Amino acid sequence: MAAKEKFAEPTYLECGFGELEYKVIKSEICCRCGTCEAFCPRIDHVENKPALVNYDPLCGLCFTYCPRTFLDMGAMESKLFGRTRNADEALGIYHKAVSAQAKPAQDKAQDGGVATALLVQALQSGMIDCAVITDRDGEWKTVARVATSAEEIRSAAGTKYTISNSVNAVSEALEKGYKKIGFVGTPCQIQGLRKVMLLDEPYQFGQDKIALLVGLFCMENFDYDALITGLVKGKFGLEPRDVARFEIKKGMFRVIDKTGKAHEVKIEETDEYTFPGCGPCFDFASELADVSVGSVGSGEGWSTILTRTDAGEKLYAATLAAGAVQEKAVSEKGLALAKRLAAGKVQRFEKKSVEMNVSGIIR
Ligand SMILES: Cc1cc2nc3c(=O)[nH]c(=O)nc-3n(C[C@H](O)[C@H](O)[C@H](O)COP(=O)(O)OP(=O)(O)OC[C@H]3O[C@@H](n4cnc5c(N)ncnc54)[C@H](O)[C@@H]3O)c2cc1C
Ligand code: SF4
Ligand code: SF4
Repeated sequence: MAAKEKFAEPTYLECGFGELEYKVIKSEICCRCGTCEAFCPRIDHVENKPALVNYDPLCGLCFTYCPRTFLDMGAMESKLFGRTRNADEALGIYHKAVSAQAKPAQDKAQDGGVATALLVQALQSGMIDCAVITDRDGEWKTVARVATSAEEIRSAAGTKYTISNSVNAVSEALEKGYKKIGFVGTPCQIQGLRKVMLLDEPYQFGQDKIALLVGLFCMENFDYDALITGLVKGKFGLEPRDVARFEIKKGMFRVIDKTGKAHEVKIEETDEYTFPGCGPCFDFASELADVSVGSVGSGEGWSTILTRTDAGEKLYAATLAAGAVQEKAVSEKGLALAKRLAAGKVQRFEKKSVEMNVSGIIR
């Protein structure tokens, strides 16, 4: 399809915040990615969700870029990769799959520290001039920030297993005048940003300044209040400030306290803390990222890397060449496990889409 004229009428003109609220927020399929809040000055984050804080011109911007209003993965893949996936590409389209680990190993990293190493390399090589990362406060509440030094990027390493409207911080990067913005985040956050970058719509708000998307693997995420009150305080008797690390390993959700003691439950027992908007989510491996990083498929202290676009491929190669990561082959067994999890997430999406009356999302 030919690109639209720059000043052509938007496709969803007159679909304002009311439509977004009805279709996505009130129906609880909103994943709180923060895309609508980032790019519409009339939408803010109020009481943990997007809210209209000014008059609504019904311009359709929020409806257009929300990853939950509509998403045609075939169309997105065609634009990004020049083709759609084959039936056996359960992890999406990628060039190279490998296990890698940051050198030297990073204590704070969740797995191999490769997400951090890639962003640091991108910053130091000039590919990006800032990175939007998701840090946390002393109570484990997420804080998305614009990092402009390797130290700031490194200090945000580690997984926060709670929903975060991190895309919202891209607007801060734009306001500060950054021109080559890097972003790391979950598949839903990557979907929102990739829609912003790829859709042929006439809105112009600086999306050409987004230069890099590092995606994480993600099976599910948790509601902060439910997780902290129900599990951390309720079941384990811990205060969030006493938690050193959260991790999901071998079917267990584990909370490591500052004395080094592990508190754990089976992952199936954490359903009550899961964020509802994660239900209708099919994307395990950040299929629209430039490069994806996860833990499944590689051993302890290593990350599984999928390079997808030319930009992602070049960045990973440069990080390896700079000696900031070391790599080894990813095992067939590891890749097969990642594919099974990805397929399981698609099945959950199909079931939840019926239960939650989701329409317009086509895998
Ligand atoms: C909610 C969530 C669920 C995940 N589930 C899985 C899974 O099921 N299977 C799997 O293999 N991997 C999963 N991952 C990815 C895994 O936990 C690691 O993030 C990944 O392996 C990269 O490790 P690393 O050591 O290279 O990253 P690090 O070098 O430690 O860097 C991690 C980066 O993640 C970003 N980040 C942390 N928390 C969040 C958040 N809540 N939202 C957005 N960005 C964040 C930080 O900005 C940081 O830059 C999940 C990640 C998240 C955030
Ligand atoms: S899914 Fe993201 S873009 Fe859509 S309403 Fe929720 S926060 Fe906004
Ligand atoms: S499961 Fe999906 S909706 Fe939930 S945080 Fe992960 S990518 Fe986002």
